[in-house]
Amino acid sequence: MSGRVADGGTPLMTQYREIKARHPNAILFFRMGDFYEMFFDDAELGAKTLGITLTSRGDGVPLAGVPVKAAADYLRQLLAAGLRVAICEQVEDPKAAKGIVRREVVETITPGAVLDETFLAGTKNNFLVAAWADEAHGRMGGLAAVDLSTGEFLLETMPGERLAESVSRLGPAEVVQPAESALPLDDGVMRTAREAWEFDPALAQDDLARRFQLASLDGLGLGAEDAPAVGAAGALLRYLAELQPGGLPHLMRPVARRGEGHLWLDEMTRRNLELVEPLRAGTKGATLFEVIDATVTPMGGRLLRQWVLSPLADAAAIDRRLDAVTVFFADPRGRARLREALEGVRDLERLAGRAAAGRATPRELGALRDSLLRLPDVLGAFTGLKDRESSALLAAIARDFDLLADLAARLSAGLSDRPPAVLADGDAIRTGFDAELDELRGLRDGGKQYIASLQERERGRTGIPSLKVGYNKVFGYYLEVTHAHAGRVPPDYERRQTLAGAERYVTPELKEYEAKVLGAEERIGQREGALFALLRDEAGRAAPRLQQTARALAQLDVWAGLADLAERNQYVRPAVDQGFELELVGSRHPVLERRMAREAFIPNDVRFEPSARVLLVTGPNMAGKSTILRQIGLCVLLAQMGSYVPARSARIGVVDRLFTRVGASDNLARGQSTFMVEMSETSAILHSATARSLVLLDEIGRGTSTYDGVAIAWAVSEHLHDRTGCKTMFATHYHELMQLPETLAHARNYNVAVRESGGTVVFLHRLEPGGTDQSYGVHVAELAGLPAPVVARAREVLATLEGEHRVAPGEPTPPADPGQLALFAGEPDPVLRELGALDVDSLTPLEALNRLAELKKRASRPK
Ligand code: ADP
Ligand code: MG
Repeated sequence: MSGRVADGGTPLMTQYREIKARHPNAILFFRMGDFYEMFFDDAELGAKTLGITLTSRGDGVPLAGVPVKAAADYLRQLLAAGLRVAICEQVEDPKAAKGIVRREVVETITPGAVLDETFLAGTKNNFLVAAWADEAHGRMGGLAAVDLSTGEFLLETMPGERLAESVSRLGPAEVVQPAESALPLDDGVMRTAREAWEFDPALAQDDLARRFQLASLDGLGLGAEDAPAVGAAGALLRYLAELQPGGLPHLMRPVARRGEGHLWLDEMTRRNLELVEPLRAGTKGATLFEVIDATVTPMGGRLLRQWVLSPLADAAAIDRRLDAVTVFFADPRGRARLREALEGVRDLERLAGRAAAGRATPRELGALRDSLLRLPDVLGAFTGLKDRESSALLAAIARDFDLLADLAARLSAGLSDRPPAVLADGDAIRTGFDAELDELRGLRDGGKQYIASLQERERGRTGIPSLKVGYNKVFGYYLEVTHAHAGRVPPDYERRQTLAGAERYVTPELKEYEAKVLGAEERIGQREGALFALLRDEAGRAAPRLQQTARALAQLDVWAGLADLAERNQYVRPAVDQGFELELVGSRHPVLERRMAREAFIPNDVRFEPSARVLLVTGPNMAGKSTILRQIGLCVLLAQMGSYVPARSARIGVVDRLFTRVGASDNLARGQSTFMVEMSETSAILHSATARSLVLLDEIGRGTSTYDGVAIAWAVSEHLHDRTGCKTMFATHYHELMQLPETLAHARNYNVAVRESGGTVVFLHRLEPGGTDQSYGVHVAELAGLPAPVVARAREVLATLEGEHRVAPGEPTPPADPGQLALFAGEPDPVLRELGALDVDSLTPLEALNRLAELKKRASRPK
């Protein structure tokens, strides 16, 4: 008997089990009074994740709980651990309940579905993305993304092979996909599997149209070609309906982004270039985003981040953004005025989202009002900008700028100057806004005044000078008389409470006024609640307009910030076109230069053109090879997001895809890395790079033996040179690769200069044409503090090795380390090697003839 109870057979546990059965994949926060309780497995997992105590109920059921007041903090931790949490509330007043209180799950919070901005970083969108590849539409990929904290809703359709990259570019917190999909996701992204039919575009079409009250999706500017994205949106909305049974009134209408217009950036490239995350977690000031972010509003910060992760790939579109930055750049005073005006604007996007979701507090609505009141200043500063008309984007913003003056006026009239954080604290609504409320407040205040005046009168009547009127929650208003004067208490005083030194009394008159005051208080609360809800709904209905204005402000903020950055750090406007050439003169690394003393960073020139498109950079360790490589990638990325670049001049032929790879032993991004991973990443480049791509390879092939490494690096460079034809920079300390330009017509050698003077090495950090002939490895070892005798011995060994193994005298062959010595000396001629590797069966007759001609040409070249 008791065994069944111990099994949780009470009505409460029955209710719990019923609810839990419907939320098997989430931790259930089961509201009991002032606590959210977790039971069974949830309790064990929750306690472990949160580091709280695991106890058990009297009947042996494991139990752990968190106070409702501190729930936000615990929720944040559970989300960060990649868990979902279903919030189950008591949905009726416990006092009114017959039997056990009714409970319901009111929302499920997942890493991607977070409404409450207190869980979120201000300068980061929190995207929940649905993605799939649609076989019925020629394997097109479709994605839909929402940020519940702002209400943003994006749709994108792209060729299937771009799907993974498009998803990862959004930096989602969670990705919803068909159960059988194997879409690769970035580390730490939650994967949510749904059934394949949920992605059906035809189903979704109806759902979307209904949701946004449209006859057809044409109204959203969506056509048949958007079917894959629409399908994704359908699955997303279905999932959200489960997470938020109360609905999501603040979701914006979806905006379709049409693929291809963006620069392809894969995860490895984003990480290696440290765009938004540092390679070493926790390092401050290491990312491009941190260094270029001069925005003053949260929505500006979020937009800039989106732009960093999603630069453009169309010269005309880039130029339009650059035109806007130029206007701000050319008018420093106008820019300063605008930035100052913007500074008072709070997170309009999220405030609008909160209002529309019915969650805004009085204080938040106040912040919304205060922000709106700043808008005339913002618009004034904006329209006052010199030469504003020269930018088409700025002209468009000026034309459509919505000050929301109507809403600002309503909120100003309705809300008090400093609305409270919680409605129950009162005084959210301004005096003069509502006659009924004013009257109730008059009653209350009159009653309070009367009660206050009572003190004087009763002192006079009783002759007790220390008589006091007071109030407490349990007894209400009372008259307090110290024991010393107990004898003078009149007969109409009724005793209520005895304290150590005094007695508390009430009188019929006091009770009468107390009823008036308390009655008025209660009605004030109700009236304020109703009025506040009215104002919040009005703001909620204006959410689409607020979002549009927020979007405009975000852009102004970003452009003004980029102009500010450009002026402070001497950036230059890049000339951007659809051609091939890429030329940077006096370019710097935007992040490294900021970490050095002014002017300490050595600028470098670099130029890619069709006839010199594969650049091999050699140089000893610490020379600056990796720096120049990344600096090129960052400059291109900055230019393509519409920013000025750290250089004296820059001409940038727009790149369609940017790849950055770092060889295994150099690669911090990957932690536990294997040569296999390095090679599969390199392989991905060879498959997806086009002639318009930029490929930056840093010590690729390093994760294996020297022979293998050089061979692979050689073959990869050849492929990129011959087949892909893209701009490539390859940094390597394998000096053997310096022979590549001898056989590859469009490859060039560069080195990062080092000078030796008086036995020490000076790093000049200057990129120069030609190869290097010294490795300086021993010098670097010396700099690193290797004991002097070891260094001296190393010099001796080096000299011997160099003496023994000079290969092909007259060639600029580097003195190599012992591991590299015999490589080209003992190897067969490259032409022979290639002949040996040729698979004759797989060649067409024409290919065979071409290869023969090519090999003949190479064989007859003087060696
Ligand atoms: P490598 O890849 O050739 O080993 P790095 O690019 O990692 O060398 O550069 C090593 C260090 O040299 C950097 O951390 C930086 O301090 C310095 N450095 C590199 N390039 C420059 C430069 N252009 N100007 C000033 N210092 C530089
Ligand atoms: Mg390096």
